[in-house]
Amino acid sequence: MAEVQTIAEATAHFGAILEAQAARVAKVRQSPPPTDFSALETIRIGIIGGDGIGPAIAAEAQRLLEELLAEQVAAGKVEFGTIEGLTIENRAAQGKAIPDDVLADIRTYQVTLKGPTTTPEQGDGWPNIESANVAMRKELDLFANVRPVRVPRLGIDWTFFRENTEDLYALGSQGLTLGDLNIDFRLISRPGSERIIRAAFEFAQANHKDSLTVVTKANVVKTTDGAFLDAARKVGADFPEIPWEGWYIDIMTAKLVDEKRRTAFGVMVLPNLYGDILSDEAAEFQGGVGTAGSANIGTEFAMFEAIHGSAPRMVTEGRAQYANPGSMIRASAMLLSHIGLPALGQKLDQAMDLCSQYEKKIEMTGRDTGATSREFGDYVLETMRSADLESRWQAAVDAEAAAAT
Ligand code: NAD
Repeated sequence: MAEVQTIAEATAHFGAILEAQAARVAKVRQSPPPTDFSALETIRIGIIGGDGIGPAIAAEAQRLLEELLAEQVAAGKVEFGTIEGLTIENRAAQGKAIPDDVLADIRTYQVTLKGPTTTPEQGDGWPNIESANVAMRKELDLFANVRPVRVPRLGIDWTFFRENTEDLYALGSQGLTLGDLNIDFRLISRPGSERIIRAAFEFAQANHKDSLTVVTKANVVKTTDGAFLDAARKVGADFPEIPWEGWYIDIMTAKLVDEKRRTAFGVMVLPNLYGDILSDEAAEFQGGVGTAGSANIGTEFAMFEAIHGSAPRMVTEGRAQYANPGSMIRASAMLLSHIGLPALGQKLDQAMDLCSQYEKKIEMTGRDTGATSREFGDYVLETMRSADLESRWQAAVDAEAAAAT
């Protein structure tokens, strides 16, 4: 944030932002091709505990991943490591969103599983450092935030492709104040829009989805949202077999609660802020933010995490041990698919479906009326190990479909 005294100073501040963004977008145009995991001798998976409830729920997800990948680890194909130091205490002490040594360590892993990290806000006693998450997305150019929400019972099968490196969030710390005027900047670039929209179309194509929705407010926010919609027109022309529609964010938010209309949505692609809000709303249908994982994907690196934060209130109220690790487990399933092991990802998802939606032998309530993270982790592990996992899952899906008709 900058406090300026004159319009000339404000203009200079804006000029510096434009220069930095022009340089960033030039780099985006020259991004390397995506990592081919099948060609790697060793895939390195880094675990970052994070803050608050993070380390405990990350540990549950790690336990399941290590079990699923035991064979690959024994063969030297996969290696796990722990990344220390991405904690609010260390970040505050070093005055950096991501301390240099931690960033260097993170860069040695192609994929990371990250627990939520606390971002200081005014008045909470921590210095005003940037969000570690936003910094990581920028540093590693993790442009696609992919957030799936599935509730078979309600006919919901949505995948959100949220742009992760631009929009209001990218320049959220660079606004300016001139007297009583407060201005933030919103940036949407053509290459930045095209690459996220293309990722969404490619996903729709690979997963045989027959529709795609591009969400903006281009009728009002004409320059930036207009550019996003225009990029969709250009990229969409390369995928003639996938029809797409433009929707406005306000009516889209309403339609997600319309039981008749919402089941028709499949893949949605949105600028950063709309994507953040809409996917949090969507996660509520699945059982709350504690149940939803997400992927942050770039061409070289990828980071998998929960969609929620470090839940400091759960920690101060002594309820941290009741945090739901489901979000981190779902993120781990996405990680497995990303590194070329979709069958293992599916196995983990099926175990999660049974434990959190169908059989629900134990309930997570976020307090002592429900199970602990550890108990839930044990339940998923035991379900995943059972020889009849696939048939139990199929029977549950069929029973639900029968009940719905
Ligand atoms: P939050 O998501 O941390 O928590 C809000 C509420 O959601 C909690 O009080 C709790 O009731 C519930 N909740 C969240 N995760 C849960 C889980 N796994 N199990 C059960 N209940 C759960 O949101 P907040 O309080 O707004 O943010 C706290 C901190 O986290 C802030 O510093 C914020 O900046 C940060 N944050 C980090 C990330 C990230 O690292 N990706 C994302 C969002 C917020």
